[in-house]
This record gives sequence, structure tokens and C-alpha cells, in this order.
Amino acid sequence: MSKKICFNENELVGVLTTEPINRVLDYYSPSGGCRLGDFVEVFLGPRKVLGCVWSKGIGGYDPLKIKRINRVLDLEPMQEEMRLFLHRVSNYTLSPISGMLRLALRGNFTSQVKTHKKVYFFSGKNNHKQLKITRTRKRLLDFLTNKKTKHFSLNDLSFLSGVSISVIQGLIKNGLIEEKKIPIDFSYPKLFPEYLSQKLSNEQLAVVNQLKTFLVAKVYSTTLLKGVTGSGKTEVYLELVAEALRLGRQVLVLLPEIALTSAFIEKVKTRFGNSPAEWHSGVTKSEKYRCWRMIASGNIQLVVGARSALYLPFKKLGLIVVDEEHDTSYKQEDGILYNARDMAVLRASLNEAMVVLASATPSLETWVNAKVGKYNRLNLENRYGAAKLPEISCIDMRLEKLSPNTWISPKLIEGVKRNLENGEQSLLFLNRRGYAPITICQACGFQVGCEKCDARMTLHRFRSILICHQCGDTKLLIDVCPNCKASGSFNALGPGVERIAEEASKAFPDAKLALLSSDILTPSGSIDKIIDSIENGEVDIIIGTQLVAKGHNFPHLSLVGVIDADLGLQGADLRASEKTFQLIKQVSGRAGRDKTKGIALLQTYQPEHPVMRAILSNDDEKFWESEAKQRKEALVPPFGTMAGIVISGTDLQQVNEISNQFAINLGPLKDINAKVYGPAPAPIARIRGRHRIRLLIKVGNKKNFQKALGSWASQFKLPGNVRLSIDIDPQTFF
Ligand code: ADP
Ligand code: ZN
Ligand code: ZN
Repeated sequence: MSKKICFNENELVGVLTTEPINRVLDYYSPSGGCRLGDFVEVFLGPRKVLGCVWSKGIGGYDPLKIKRINRVLDLEPMQEEMRLFLHRVSNYTLSPISGMLRLALRGNFTSQVKTHKKVYFFSGKNNHKQLKITRTRKRLLDFLTNKKTKHFSLNDLSFLSGVSISVIQGLIKNGLIEEKKIPIDFSYPKLFPEYLSQKLSNEQLAVVNQLKTFLVAKVYSTTLLKGVTGSGKTEVYLELVAEALRLGRQVLVLLPEIALTSAFIEKVKTRFGNSPAEWHSGVTKSEKYRCWRMIASGNIQLVVGARSALYLPFKKLGLIVVDEEHDTSYKQEDGILYNARDMAVLRASLNEAMVVLASATPSLETWVNAKVGKYNRLNLENRYGAAKLPEISCIDMRLEKLSPNTWISPKLIEGVKRNLENGEQSLLFLNRRGYAPITICQACGFQVGCEKCDARMTLHRFRSILICHQCGDTKLLIDVCPNCKASGSFNALGPGVERIAEEASKAFPDAKLALLSSDILTPSGSIDKIIDSIENGEVDIIIGTQLVAKGHNFPHLSLVGVIDADLGLQGADLRASEKTFQLIKQVSGRAGRDKTKGIALLQTYQPEHPVMRAILSNDDEKFWESEAKQRKEALVPPFGTMAGIVISGTDLQQVNEISNQFAINLGPLKDINAKVYGPAPAPIARIRGRHRIRLLIKVGNKKNFQKALGSWASQFKLPGNVRLSIDIDPQTFF
């Protein structure tokens, strides 16, 4: 006998689950047991899945098939504003809403832990002398010594340090590590807005006062804070953070690079007396769990994070700061393709919150938005204190005499030498990881490429491997050419930072060198150590990739040498000029941040290039104006919107046929007067064994773009092994 469930309409709720179903499903919630936004566990077939009460029940189903909500989780319900935000991002990026919910639920919320076991580290306590320090024990102790946080869950500690749980337990027995039970919801330390405010310059003060008036208005606004490198943008927006804290509103500061967080956290500690919460890939799972809950309950005042922090459940968000807003790493390039800077503006607009976009070299998008009055704009024209902006000049490489396989020109060598004599730091910058981009057989011309991608493999000599920068695949160095069987015939062509480091160590044998590249990022925090030693002046010459160009403040650095200033100008990227301008200005801006005057030397074969001239002239506005004019004439972003389409699969012929079908049947795209380019093989025509065909779609008017794209893309049912990805506002064209 089947049990008949009787319920009225308002006992039905629509639940969105994190499963890829992409619509709400009806569940039964007796006597109004669920509120909108509640996180729930429901049965989907035989499985328990996570969901969120998204709407009233849709109705119209067979009542006997409707299941009851299994459990309501002990979490703050999702606010309406957040549900709206997720819908908007989903519509804008054409990503499934269930995927958006997964983004908003990062962290492990199915386990209902009330208390959490944590291990604490106490160095040098107890019978430490009798203790045998094995290799793995040493690794664990080294890891803990280098870490600022000293407490971890057992699993996190094992994962992050790379030693097994039994090794940790051994040290717990010996008393070197102490185990403690602490509640998971223990609160974050309070930040004090009046703890230690810096004395601001008149220019800074004027900007802060203006920003504060926007904030206290409690309406949505976005402001471009354009301040030259070293103008003290951080100090300025920290004063605004202080004001938000006084108003009891939560703040999110987005940084483009995890490597910058520890310096920022130090600043927050100095200014507010305590550390903020952190949210990025380096934060442990249990910490994320705690952080998420405390943000939702309004008990965290300030979060510093990477782009995914945008989806945290702020209870009373008042301010979002996007630092280095021009940085391309704000664009998420896999999964859900969104630009965190743009979505920050959207999120704030749904919250009556304020956005500050800070940069010395804003993106053209933001510059134009400020120009047309969509955003406010405030400027800091001078460096803080006695520091002056660096003097930038070009080294014309056509006139320099270099020996084969060297890349540092005599002029630059001379500059570094002078700096060494004066006890000052120099930076050699090259935006290319590894040792050499090409490994070629001199006997037959064979180049070492990736088996899975149409890409060469980059030689990383320090690690003695070749790496594919597309898919991460590695190969050991080989001696015999697989093509012509010649032995010892391989030669490395072109420079990467490792090779510049090698050249520098030969040219300056007594100097202390530090290599700063994202390759050396290891979980043990070694990058922080290198940065510390640079800040303390223990390094003479820094050799680095774009990782050094971002936001760092190196007080002893007075000379920046750009090895290949032309590097970014090659290729067909519509933002090539803009990105080169930003990168060179940013990296040059690392010089002369203290009392000594800084100089930047740009090695170039085209000193007449408009970008080089714009950099030397120091007339930023003129550069943006001419850049804007060119983009307007070509109707490319920000004067027109684009979508990059990639159709990929393992069978090239199949991918070609499907791409042609899409290109022939433009239907909905024709209705909105879209221009369609392609199909053509993507610049990297194969990645991870998948062939890639590209189409580029351009419209003058954004209206109905997503809608048209959506119906165009869903015309054909794709075979299981073929994928279609849509990238709105693409930043890269690979
Ligand atoms: P930006 O981000 O604009 O490049 P920073 O915020 O890093 O510049 O500031 C550059 C340097 O000047 C930092 O060392 C910072 O601490 C210092 N500074 C800026 N403003 C002040 C201030 N009002 N008082 C003291 N130091 C300041
Ligand atoms: Zn060969
Ligand atoms: Zn590859």
C-alpha cells in the first residue's frame, strides 16, 4: 500500500542542486520547514546531494513522486542578492547555474563538524634531543618553521607538508607537536579601524576624503583609483577599509597573485592590529569551512582573496577593492570563464556597495568606463614621500654588440656593475619561464615538442626536464635525437629567465642572485622567503618573470633592466600594445621606491615603436587616447563585444564538420548583426590531444548577445567527445 502524502502548494519548494541538472526540482518541506536560501540535503535517485532552496515549488508533478527534504544544513541561508548574482553571472557567461552554485559552495559543507581536531606546533619543547631526526621528520619540521600559521588539521598538515600522518603522529608522541581540540567556529581576531593610521600626504588625503563620501552614501559606485607606482594606493584604500569597518560593513580585497598576500597581510596587521581572513588556493579546507561560515554570519570584517572570494556569502558587503585591476589573472580561464574585476562591479551593484579599481596602468576597459562617466576616477600623480618616478630609457639592440648566446647588452651590464659598486639592487626582467623556449637538433632541425599539444616544450635546466607550458606534461632531457639518431646534437635556442640567471652569474660572479619565477612556487612558502631577503637587501641581482612586476615594494632596488621589451608586441592579440605598456610600466615602477633615484633600461630592437615612445614620454593619457581611438575604429573591445568559441575533440574531421555546421547555421546571430570570423584552427591547434577549431564573434551592441549565442550554440546536439566552449570578453586567443 503506497503512502499518500497530502500537502498544499506552499509546502513545495524548488531546490537547485549542485548536480549538473541546471533547473530547480520540487521537494516537499512539511509545514514550511524551509526558508528561501536554506542549504539542504536532498535525495536525487538513491544519492544524497547538496542543494539550495531557490524558489517556491514549480508544481504540476505527480505528488507521489515528490520527495521530502532530507535535512536542512546548519548554515546561514543564501541571501536573495547572492542568488540574483549567481543568476546574472550564469546568464552573462552562459554557464550552467548549477556550476555557479558549486562555486558559491566551495568548501566541505556536507560534514557537520562541530569541533575540529587541530595540531599545534611548539618548537624545541620536550625530549627533543633523544629524537631521531629522520628525513621526513626534518621535512615536516622545516615546513612548520617556515609557516606563519602554526595550526592545521591532521589531514591538511599531512597534505601540505608532504609527509604521512604516521610521521606527524610520531612527533605528537615525542611532544614536538601538540594536539589540541578547538571549536571550528572560533572567531577571527577583531580589526580596529583606529589602531594605527598613517599620516597621509595632502594628495592622498584629498583622494581618501572623496572616496569616503562615496562610501557613506551607501549606494553602489565604482571608482578607478589611478595612482602612479609607489603613490601609496594601498595606504589610501586601507583608510577606506577603515571607514567601512566603522560603518560595520564587510570588505573584500582582491589581489591578483597569492605571492602578494603575505605582504598585504602585514600591512593590515600594522594598520588594524590583526590579520584579515584569507581565501585562496593556499588556504586549507578546514580553514575555508570556518571562513565561509564566519563570513555568512557577518563575523569577518575583511577578507583578502583571489577571484573565487567573490562568491563568498558576505552578509553586509560594503566595499570591494580590486587591486591591480588591469591584471589578466583576474580572468578565470577554465571552467566558468568570468572576469573577477567585472563581476566584482556586478556584485557590488546588487549590494549598494562600493568598488575601488586600483592600478597604475588601468585596463582600457576601465579607463573608458571612467572617461564616459560610468565610473568615478581619482588620481595620485606623485610617489609618496621623497621617492621619484624612475627615469626610463631604451637600449637600441641594433647598435649593441653581444656575443653569441648572451642577452644582456654591454650597456645594461655597465648599469648593473655601477649598481653593485654602489651597493644597490638591480632587477633583470624577462617574461619567459624556464631556460630556453626551443630545443632543436642541430643535425636535422627536429624540435622537441609536446606529444599531446601543438606546442614546443620549454627547457627547464635547473630541474633537468622539458615542460609543455600548455598542458604541463614533462619529458626528461634526451641525448639521442629521435628523428635522425644523432647523439649530443641538441641545442637550446633563445632565453628564459633561468638562462639569464646563468648569464648574470657569469658576468657578475661575486653578486648574490635571486630567481623569482612562478616555477619555484612550492607549498613551503619559499617564495615569501626570497621576497623577504630581497626586501632586506640581502640580494644584489633579482632575475624574474612577470611575478616580480606585480605590486611588490623592494626598497633597495634602483635599476630595472628589461631583457626583451619587444616580447609582448609579437602576435595578433588585440591587446598586445596595452599589455606591453602595462607590463613595462609596472616592472619599471619597481625601481626607485625609496630615496635613491631609479632607472629602467629597456632592451629593444624597435625604439621607434609607438608603445616604446609612449612609455618614454610618460604621457599615459595620450597613450590611452590613441589606443581607444584605434579600438573604436576597429570596433573591438571595449567598443564592441566579442565571444571566443572553441570547438574541440579528438577526431579532427569530426571537429571540422561540426564547426562548419555552426558556421553555416548562423540564424540567431544573424538577427543581431553579429560578425563571425572562422572557423579556423586555433593558434594552438591541439591541446591535451584535442583538436581545436576557433570562431570569433563580434557585435557592436551587447543587447541580446548572450541570448542569441545561447540559442545558436544549442542548435546541434554535440557528440559526447566534442566540446563547445564560449568565452565572453576573451582575454587570450590561444
Ligand atoms: P602603490 O601600491 O601605489 O605602488 P604602495 O601602497 O606600495 O604604492 O606604497 C609605496 C610605499 O610608500 C610603501 O612602502 C608604503 O608603505 C609607503 N607609503 C605610502 N603612503 C604612505 C603614508 N601615508 N605613510 C607612510 N608610508 C607610506
Ligand atoms: Zn636530429
Ligand atoms: Zn602539452
